Amino acid sequence: MPLRTVRPAAPRAWTVELRSQSGRLVMTCQQCPLASRPVTAASARSAVLAHLARHARGDLRAPHLRTCHCHERGCRWHRRHRGCDGPIRLLLACERGGRVWRLVDACGACAAATDQAAVVPDTAIVGSLHPTSTRPRRPRLMRGPGEHVRVGEILSYLAVALPSEVSAEARLLALQCALRMNAQMRVALPAGVLHSLRVGAAQACRELEQARWLRLDDPPGTAGTAAQLLDAALLAQPPARPDRRRAADWALRTGCPARIGVAEPQMQLLGTSLIAHTDPSSREGLRESDRVLRDCGMPEHELARVLNRLADSGVLERWQICPRSGDVHWTLTRRR
Ligand SMILES: [Zn+2]
Ligand SMILES: [Zn+2]
Ligand SMILES: [Zn+2]
Repeated sequence: MPLRTVRPAAPRAWTVELRSQSGRLVMTCQQCPLASRPVTAASARSAVLAHLARHARGDLRAPHLRTCHCHERGCRWHRRHRGCDGPIRLLLACERGGRVWRLVDACGACAAATDQAAVVPDTAIVGSLHPTSTRPRRPRLMRGPGEHVRVGEILSYLAVALPSEVSAEARLLALQCALRMNAQMRVALPAGVLHSLRVGAAQACRELEQARWLRLDDPPGTAGTAAQLLDAALLAQPPARPDRRRAADWALRTGCPARIGVAEPQMQLLGTSLIAHTDPSSREGLRESDRVLRDCGMPEHELARVLNRLADSGVLERWQICPRSGDVHWTLTRRR
Protein backbone atom coordinates (compact mmCIF):
# COMPACT_ATOMS: atom_id res chain seq x y z
CA MET A 1 0.00 0.00 0.00
CA PRO A 2 1.49 3.41 -0.91
CA LEU A 3 2.40 5.61 2.02
CA ARG A 4 0.22 8.68 2.27
CA THR A 5 1.77 11.91 3.40
CA VAL A 6 -1.48 13.75 4.08
CA ARG A 7 -4.11 12.00 6.10
CA PRO A 8 -7.18 14.18 6.29
CA ALA A 9 -8.88 12.36 9.13
CA ALA A 10 -8.84 9.11 11.06
CA PRO A 11 -10.13 6.18 9.01
CA ARG A 12 -13.76 5.31 9.32
CA ALA A 13 -12.97 1.74 10.29
CA TRP A 14 -13.51 0.33 13.77
CA THR A 15 -12.91 -3.17 15.07
CA VAL A 16 -14.20 -4.74 18.25
CA GLU A 17 -13.17 -8.13 19.54
CA LEU A 18 -14.69 -10.50 22.10
CA ARG A 19 -12.09 -12.50 24.06
CA SER A 20 -12.23 -14.98 26.86
CA GLN A 21 -10.12 -13.75 29.77
CA SER A 22 -9.87 -15.84 32.92
CA GLY A 23 -13.25 -17.36 32.37
CA ARG A 24 -14.98 -14.10 31.47
CA LEU A 25 -15.98 -12.65 28.11
CA VAL A 26 -14.32 -9.27 27.53
CA MET A 27 -15.08 -6.76 24.79
CA THR A 28 -12.09 -4.83 23.49
CA CYS A 29 -11.98 -2.11 20.85
CA GLN A 30 -8.86 -1.62 18.72
CA GLN A 31 -9.52 2.10 18.56
CA CYS A 32 -10.11 2.71 22.27
CA PRO A 33 -8.15 0.14 24.30
CA LEU A 34 -9.21 1.70 27.59
CA ALA A 35 -12.84 0.86 26.86
CA SER A 36 -12.37 -2.90 27.47
CA ARG A 37 -15.11 -4.29 29.63
CA PRO A 38 -16.63 -7.62 30.57
CA VAL A 39 -19.89 -8.58 28.85
CA THR A 40 -22.21 -11.56 29.18
CA ALA A 41 -22.64 -13.97 26.30
CA ALA A 42 -26.25 -12.86 25.89
CA SER A 43 -25.47 -9.14 25.79
CA ALA A 44 -22.20 -9.33 23.81
CA ARG A 45 -23.68 -8.81 20.36
CA SER A 46 -25.77 -5.78 21.33
CA ALA A 47 -22.85 -4.30 23.32
CA VAL A 48 -20.58 -4.63 20.28
CA LEU A 49 -23.11 -3.07 17.91
CA ALA A 50 -23.77 -0.22 20.34
CA HIS A 51 -20.05 0.49 20.66
CA LEU A 52 -19.43 0.44 16.91
CA ALA A 53 -22.47 2.64 16.25
CA ARG A 54 -21.14 5.19 18.75
CA HIS A 55 -17.90 5.43 16.77
CA ALA A 56 -19.74 5.90 13.49
CA ARG A 57 -22.05 8.54 14.91
CA GLY A 58 -19.10 10.38 16.45
CA ASP A 59 -17.44 10.68 13.03
CA LEU A 60 -20.05 11.79 10.55
CA ARG A 61 -18.74 12.98 7.19
CA ALA A 62 -20.32 14.34 4.08
CA PRO A 63 -20.55 11.71 1.34
CA HIS A 64 -17.85 13.33 -0.83
CA LEU A 65 -15.33 13.07 2.03
CA ARG A 66 -15.86 9.36 2.49
CA THR A 67 -13.49 6.88 0.87
CA CYS A 68 -13.21 3.11 0.74
CA HIS A 69 -11.27 2.28 3.89
CA CYS A 70 -11.40 -1.37 2.99
CA HIS A 71 -9.21 -0.48 -0.01
CA GLU A 72 -6.94 1.66 2.13
CA ARG A 73 -6.32 -1.37 4.35
CA GLY A 74 -5.32 -3.40 1.31
CA CYS A 75 -8.66 -5.16 0.77
CA ARG A 76 -7.51 -8.03 2.99
CA TRP A 77 -10.97 -8.75 4.38
CA HIS A 78 -12.42 -10.23 1.22
CA ARG A 79 -11.68 -12.28 -1.87
CA ARG A 80 -10.16 -10.55 -4.89
CA HIS A 81 -12.37 -8.46 -7.13
CA ARG A 82 -11.85 -6.13 -10.05
CA GLY A 83 -11.31 -3.01 -7.98
CA CYS A 84 -13.29 -0.49 -5.99
CA ASP A 85 -16.54 0.64 -7.48
CA GLY A 86 -19.90 1.98 -6.38
CA PRO A 87 -21.02 4.32 -3.61
CA ILE A 88 -19.32 4.33 -0.21
CA ARG A 89 -21.49 2.82 2.52
CA LEU A 90 -20.96 1.63 6.07
CA LEU A 91 -20.34 -2.10 6.13
CA LEU A 92 -20.87 -4.22 9.23
CA ALA A 93 -18.81 -7.41 9.10
CA CYS A 94 -18.42 -10.28 11.50
CA GLU A 95 -15.55 -12.76 11.54
CA ARG A 96 -14.39 -15.83 13.43
CA GLY A 97 -17.86 -16.95 14.44
CA GLY A 98 -18.84 -13.63 15.97
CA ARG A 99 -15.60 -12.99 17.88
CA VAL A 100 -14.49 -10.06 15.70
CA TRP A 101 -16.79 -7.29 14.49
CA ARG A 102 -15.89 -4.48 12.15
CA LEU A 103 -17.69 -1.36 10.97
CA VAL A 104 -15.98 0.26 7.99
CA ASP A 105 -16.62 2.64 5.12
CA ALA A 106 -16.44 0.49 2.00
CA CYS A 107 -17.35 0.76 -1.66
CA GLY A 108 -20.06 -1.36 -3.24
CA ALA A 109 -17.60 -3.78 -4.84
CA CYS A 110 -15.74 -4.43 -1.57
CA ALA A 111 -19.03 -4.74 0.32
CA ALA A 112 -20.33 -7.33 -2.14
CA ALA A 113 -17.12 -9.37 -1.89
CA THR A 114 -17.03 -9.49 1.92
CA ASP A 115 -18.46 -12.60 3.60
CA GLN A 116 -20.59 -12.36 6.72
CA ALA A 117 -21.19 -8.67 6.13
CA ALA A 118 -24.06 -6.30 5.44
CA VAL A 119 -24.39 -2.68 4.47
CA VAL A 120 -25.88 -0.69 7.34
CA PRO A 121 -29.14 0.67 5.89
CA ASP A 122 -28.41 4.22 4.78
CA THR A 123 -31.02 5.93 6.87
CA ALA A 124 -29.33 4.63 9.98
CA ILE A 125 -26.42 6.96 10.43
CA VAL A 126 -26.40 9.43 7.56
CA GLY A 127 -29.67 10.88 8.83
CA SER A 128 -28.02 12.83 11.62
CA LEU A 129 -25.37 14.46 9.45
CA HIS A 130 -27.16 17.80 9.75
CA PRO A 131 -27.88 18.96 13.29
CA THR A 132 -31.65 19.45 13.68
CA SER A 133 -31.41 23.24 13.64
CA THR A 134 -29.50 23.47 10.36
CA ARG A 135 -31.39 20.68 8.65
CA PRO A 136 -33.24 21.97 5.62
CA ARG A 137 -36.98 22.35 6.16
CA ARG A 138 -37.86 20.02 3.34
CA PRO A 139 -35.21 17.37 3.84
CA ARG A 140 -35.26 15.77 0.44
CA LEU A 141 -37.59 15.40 -2.42
CA MET A 142 -35.82 12.28 -3.55
CA ARG A 143 -37.37 9.19 -2.11
CA GLY A 144 -34.14 7.26 -1.66
CA PRO A 145 -33.99 3.65 -2.79
CA GLY A 146 -37.16 1.90 -3.85
CA GLU A 147 -39.17 -0.13 -1.37
CA HIS A 148 -37.74 -3.43 -2.51
CA VAL A 149 -34.12 -2.21 -2.25
CA ARG A 150 -34.70 -0.94 1.27
CA VAL A 151 -36.34 -4.20 2.35
CA GLY A 152 -33.48 -6.24 0.84
CA GLU A 153 -30.90 -4.13 2.65
CA ILE A 154 -32.62 -4.44 6.02
CA LEU A 155 -32.98 -8.23 5.64
CA SER A 156 -29.24 -8.45 4.87
CA TYR A 157 -28.42 -6.17 7.76
CA LEU A 158 -30.53 -8.29 10.14
CA ALA A 159 -28.69 -11.39 8.88
CA VAL A 160 -25.53 -9.99 10.46
CA ALA A 161 -27.08 -8.21 13.44
CA LEU A 162 -29.23 -11.15 14.64
CA PRO A 163 -27.91 -14.53 15.78
CA SER A 164 -28.16 -17.14 13.02
CA GLU A 165 -30.62 -19.30 14.98
CA VAL A 166 -33.31 -16.59 15.00
CA SER A 167 -36.36 -18.00 13.19
CA ALA A 168 -38.02 -16.79 10.00
CA GLU A 169 -41.02 -15.58 12.03
CA ALA A 170 -38.83 -13.42 14.24
CA ARG A 171 -36.98 -12.02 11.18
CA LEU A 172 -40.27 -11.04 9.53
CA LEU A 173 -41.27 -9.24 12.72
CA ALA A 174 -37.84 -7.59 13.10
CA LEU A 175 -38.08 -6.29 9.53
CA GLN A 176 -41.38 -4.58 10.34
CA CYS A 177 -39.95 -3.15 13.58
CA ALA A 178 -36.81 -1.77 11.87
CA LEU A 179 -38.87 -0.08 9.16
CA ARG A 180 -41.59 1.30 11.45
CA MET A 181 -39.60 2.51 14.46
CA ASN A 182 -39.49 6.21 15.40
CA ALA A 183 -36.49 8.41 16.21
CA GLN A 184 -36.37 7.06 19.77
CA MET A 185 -36.23 3.53 18.39
CA ARG A 186 -39.69 2.76 19.74
CA VAL A 187 -42.13 0.85 17.63
CA ALA A 188 -45.83 0.20 17.96
CA LEU A 189 -47.21 -2.51 15.70
CA PRO A 190 -51.00 -2.35 15.53
CA ALA A 191 -53.00 -5.57 15.66
CA GLY A 192 -53.69 -5.24 11.92
CA VAL A 193 -49.99 -5.45 11.08
CA LEU A 194 -49.49 -8.46 13.35
CA HIS A 195 -52.51 -10.10 11.78
CA SER A 196 -51.26 -9.50 8.24
CA LEU A 197 -47.85 -10.89 9.16
CA ARG A 198 -49.46 -14.16 10.25
CA VAL A 199 -46.58 -15.06 12.54
CA GLY A 200 -46.74 -16.31 16.10
CA ALA A 201 -46.05 -12.84 17.44
CA ALA A 202 -45.57 -13.87 21.08
CA GLN A 203 -42.91 -16.44 20.24
CA ALA A 204 -41.23 -14.13 17.68
CA CYS A 205 -41.07 -11.30 20.23
CA ARG A 206 -39.61 -13.67 22.81
CA GLU A 207 -36.86 -14.67 20.40
CA LEU A 208 -35.98 -11.05 19.62
CA GLU A 209 -35.96 -10.29 23.34
CA GLN A 210 -33.64 -13.21 24.01
CA ALA A 211 -31.34 -11.92 21.26
CA ARG A 212 -31.37 -8.53 23.08
CA TRP A 213 -32.61 -6.93 19.90
CA LEU A 214 -35.69 -5.41 21.51
CA ARG A 215 -37.40 -5.00 24.87
CA LEU A 216 -41.17 -5.41 24.95
CA ASP A 217 -43.26 -2.63 26.48
CA ASP A 218 -46.58 -4.31 25.70
CA PRO A 219 -46.64 -8.00 24.86
CA PRO A 220 -48.60 -8.86 21.71
CA GLY A 221 -52.33 -8.70 22.39
CA THR A 222 -55.58 -7.57 20.83
CA ALA A 223 -54.27 -3.99 20.62
CA GLY A 224 -51.02 -5.01 18.95
CA THR A 225 -47.61 -4.71 20.55
CA ALA A 226 -45.12 -2.01 21.50
CA ALA A 227 -41.38 -2.36 21.98
CA GLN A 228 -38.14 -0.51 22.44
CA LEU A 229 -35.51 -1.57 19.89
CA LEU A 230 -32.04 -2.07 21.33
CA ASP A 231 -30.11 -2.43 18.07
CA ALA A 232 -27.98 0.68 18.36
CA ALA A 233 -26.66 0.50 14.80
CA LEU A 234 -30.14 1.37 13.59
CA LEU A 235 -30.22 4.39 15.89
CA ALA A 236 -30.52 7.93 14.52
CA GLN A 237 -32.92 7.02 11.77
CA PRO A 238 -35.14 9.98 11.05
CA PRO A 239 -38.60 9.51 12.57
CA ALA A 240 -40.91 7.07 10.78
CA ARG A 241 -40.32 8.48 7.35
CA PRO A 242 -42.93 7.87 4.70
CA ASP A 243 -40.52 5.94 2.50
CA ARG A 244 -39.59 3.53 5.26
CA ARG A 245 -43.25 3.07 6.06
CA ARG A 246 -43.97 2.40 2.41
CA ALA A 247 -41.20 -0.20 2.43
CA ALA A 248 -42.77 -1.83 5.51
CA ASP A 249 -46.15 -1.94 3.75
CA TRP A 250 -44.51 -3.33 0.62
CA ALA A 251 -42.88 -6.13 2.66
CA LEU A 252 -46.20 -6.89 4.31
CA ARG A 253 -48.06 -7.08 1.00
CA THR A 254 -45.28 -9.04 -0.70
CA GLY A 255 -44.82 -11.63 2.00
CA CYS A 256 -48.45 -12.09 2.97
CA PRO A 257 -49.81 -15.64 2.75
CA ALA A 258 -52.53 -14.59 0.30
CA ARG A 259 -49.81 -13.87 -2.25
CA ILE A 260 -47.24 -16.46 -1.32
CA GLY A 261 -49.85 -19.16 -0.98
CA VAL A 262 -49.34 -20.86 2.37
CA ALA A 263 -48.76 -19.35 5.79
CA GLU A 264 -45.33 -20.86 6.25
CA PRO A 265 -42.95 -18.22 7.64
CA GLN A 266 -39.91 -19.63 5.78
CA MET A 267 -41.77 -19.25 2.49
CA GLN A 268 -42.92 -15.74 3.36
CA LEU A 269 -39.38 -14.71 4.26
CA LEU A 270 -37.63 -16.36 1.30
CA GLY A 271 -40.33 -15.06 -1.06
CA THR A 272 -39.94 -11.51 0.26
CA SER A 273 -36.15 -11.73 0.06
CA LEU A 274 -36.12 -13.06 -3.52
CA ILE A 275 -38.69 -10.53 -4.74
CA ALA A 276 -36.69 -7.75 -3.06
CA HIS A 277 -33.63 -8.82 -5.05
CA THR A 278 -35.39 -9.26 -8.38
CA ASP A 279 -34.81 -6.90 -11.29
CA PRO A 280 -38.36 -5.58 -11.77
CA SER A 281 -37.96 -5.12 -15.55
CA SER A 282 -36.78 -8.67 -16.35
CA ARG A 283 -38.45 -10.46 -13.38
CA GLU A 284 -35.11 -12.26 -12.93
CA GLY A 285 -32.81 -12.47 -9.96
CA LEU A 286 -29.40 -13.89 -9.11
CA ARG A 287 -27.71 -14.21 -5.70
CA GLU A 288 -25.14 -16.38 -3.97
CA SER A 289 -27.03 -19.07 -2.14
CA ASP A 290 -24.94 -18.43 1.01
CA ARG A 291 -26.33 -14.91 1.19
CA VAL A 292 -29.87 -16.06 0.52
CA LEU A 293 -29.60 -18.62 3.32
CA ARG A 294 -28.10 -16.11 5.73
CA ASP A 295 -30.75 -13.46 5.06
CA CYS A 296 -33.45 -16.02 5.80
CA GLY A 297 -31.70 -17.76 8.70
CA MET A 298 -32.33 -20.98 6.78
CA PRO A 299 -30.32 -24.23 6.91
CA GLU A 300 -28.85 -25.24 3.54
CA HIS A 301 -30.87 -28.44 3.18
CA GLU A 302 -34.13 -26.47 3.34
CA LEU A 303 -33.42 -24.18 0.39
CA ALA A 304 -34.47 -26.45 -2.49
CA ARG A 305 -37.65 -27.51 -0.68
CA VAL A 306 -38.77 -23.94 0.00
CA LEU A 307 -37.85 -22.82 -3.54
CA ASN A 308 -39.97 -25.68 -4.89
CA ARG A 309 -42.88 -24.62 -2.73
CA LEU A 310 -42.57 -21.04 -3.98
CA ALA A 311 -42.70 -22.40 -7.52
CA ASP A 312 -45.70 -24.62 -6.70
CA SER A 313 -47.59 -21.69 -5.22
CA GLY A 314 -47.02 -19.56 -8.32
CA VAL A 315 -44.48 -17.08 -6.95
CA LEU A 316 -41.54 -18.37 -9.01
CA GLU A 317 -41.78 -19.35 -12.64
CA ARG A 318 -38.48 -21.26 -12.42
CA TRP A 319 -35.37 -21.46 -10.32
CA GLN A 320 -32.02 -23.24 -10.33
CA ILE A 321 -28.88 -23.40 -8.24
CA CYS A 322 -25.72 -23.29 -10.35
CA PRO A 323 -23.63 -26.31 -9.23
CA ARG A 324 -20.34 -24.54 -9.95
CA SER A 325 -20.86 -21.08 -8.50
CA GLY A 326 -23.54 -21.93 -5.95
CA ASP A 327 -25.60 -18.97 -7.22
CA VAL A 328 -29.39 -19.12 -7.12
CA HIS A 329 -31.08 -17.93 -10.33
CA TRP A 330 -34.81 -17.35 -10.39
CA THR A 331 -37.60 -15.83 -12.47
CA LEU A 332 -40.82 -14.50 -10.95
CA THR A 333 -44.13 -15.40 -12.52
CA ARG A 334 -45.67 -12.69 -14.66
CA ARG A 335 -48.65 -11.96 -12.39
CA ARG A 336 -46.46 -10.01 -9.97
ZN1 LIG B 1 -14.04 1.90 20.47
ZN1 LIG C 1 -11.82 -3.96 -0.31
ZN1 LIG D 1 -13.43 -0.70 -2.15
